[in-house]
Amino acid sequence: MPETARPILRELVIHGPQSRTALAQSLGLSPGSLTRLTKPLVEAGLVVERDAVRESVNGRPSRPLEVVADDLHFAGITLTSDHVYGVLTNLRADVVARETSPLMNLAPETVIAQIGQVTEALAARGGQPVAIGLGMGGNAYTPAPVGENELLDSGLLGWEQVPVRRLVAERLGIPCVLQNDVTALAYCHQWFGEARGIRDFAIVAIGDGIGYALFIHGQAVRLTEAAIGNFGHQILTSDGPLCPAGHCGCAVSYLTKGSLLMTAAQGMRRFPTYPEVLRLADAGDPVCSRAVQQAAWALGIVIANVVNNTGVRTIILTGEAMDIAQVGRPDLERGIAARHPNPKDINITVDGHDFHQWARGAAVLAIRHHISDH
Ligand SMILES: [Zn+2]
Repeated sequence: MPETARPILRELVIHGPQSRTALAQSLGLSPGSLTRLTKPLVEAGLVVERDAVRESVNGRPSRPLEVVADDLHFAGITLTSDHVYGVLTNLRADVVARETSPLMNLAPETVIAQIGQVTEALAARGGQPVAIGLGMGGNAYTPAPVGENELLDSGLLGWEQVPVRRLVAERLGIPCVLQNDVTALAYCHQWFGEARGIRDFAIVAIGDGIGYALFIHGQAVRLTEAAIGNFGHQILTSDGPLCPAGHCGCAVSYLTKGSLLMTAAQGMRRFPTYPEVLRLADAGDPVCSRAVQQAAWALGIVIANVVNNTGVRTIILTGEAMDIAQVGRPDLERGIAARHPNPKDINITVDGHDFHQWARGAAVLAIRHHISDH
C-alpha cells in the first residue's frame, strides 16, 4: 500500500463508508487525486465500492467507498494482577470474540504462555489475527512510556526488564504492539468511542492505581510512567489520609480501591469488600457514605486540576473503582467547583467498566499499527 493511500484507509476505518466527494473534502484532495490514491486500495481488496446512492448535495448518484473490515482480525490483550482478558476484533474494532483466563502465576514465561493460549483460543473462534496489541501499566518510577523501551518493568506484575513485546511476537508469529493500557483505551475512544472528533481530551482511570492519558490537537501527549505516577501522587490537601508513598492527602490516598477500603475500614472496624462499601454508601450508611463522598470530592479536584492545567474540556472517567463518580456525583461536582469557576464548561463521561473494553483498546493499538498511523 502506498504511503499516500494510508490517510484514506484511516478515514474509512474511523468514520465508516463515505462518498468520494465527502472523502476528498475531508482529506483536502482533488477528485482526481482521490481516484488515483484509492485505486491500489480497491485492487488490494482493502476497500470496496458500495451500491450507488444519490448524494444529498447535488443529487448525483455516487458509489460510497467502504473498508473491507471483516477480512482482517486483530487481537487485543490486557492484564490485571490475576487475569488475562482478550478480544478479537475486525478492522473497525468490532469485537468478534472475547476470552478470559485466570493467571496461574505472575512469572513472565507463564503470563506470556497464557497470552499465547488466549490469543489462540480467540483465533480458533473468529480467525487468525494479523497483529496483536498489548495494554499494560508500567512501573511508576520508569522515566519512559510503556512500549518505548524494549525491556518492560511492571509494578503490577513485579516484572523487571522483561522483553515482553518480543516474547509475545515470537510466541505468536505476528507483530506485537505494546503501550500503556490507559493510552490504548484513549486511542479506542478517539477512533471509535466517546472522543471521536474531539481533539483535546483526557482520561482518568481509577482502580488499584490511578491512570492518566492526555490528547492535545488529536495527538497523545508523551507521558512517562514516572509522570503518570506523579499525576496520581499530586497533593490535593495537606491534611488528608496517608498513601503508600508517605504523602498526606495525595490523589492516591483518597481514590484508589485500596484507599477507599482503608478509609471505610477505619470507621467500620473491619475490612469490607469494595462492592459492599458502594452498596452501603448507596443505602446511606454513615461510614461508607463518607468514604465515597471523600473519594468523589477528591476526584472532582483532580478533574478540575486537569482542566485548569491543560485546557481540555472533555474528561472520560473509567476504571474498576469509577462507581464512586456515580454514587458520589454531588461530591464530585463540589470538588470541581472548589477549583474551577465554570464547572458546566466541563464535559464528563463515565465509562462503564469492563476489562474486555480495555482489551479492545489494546486491539486498536494493533489496528493503528497495521494501517501505520504512529
Ligand atoms: Zn501519594
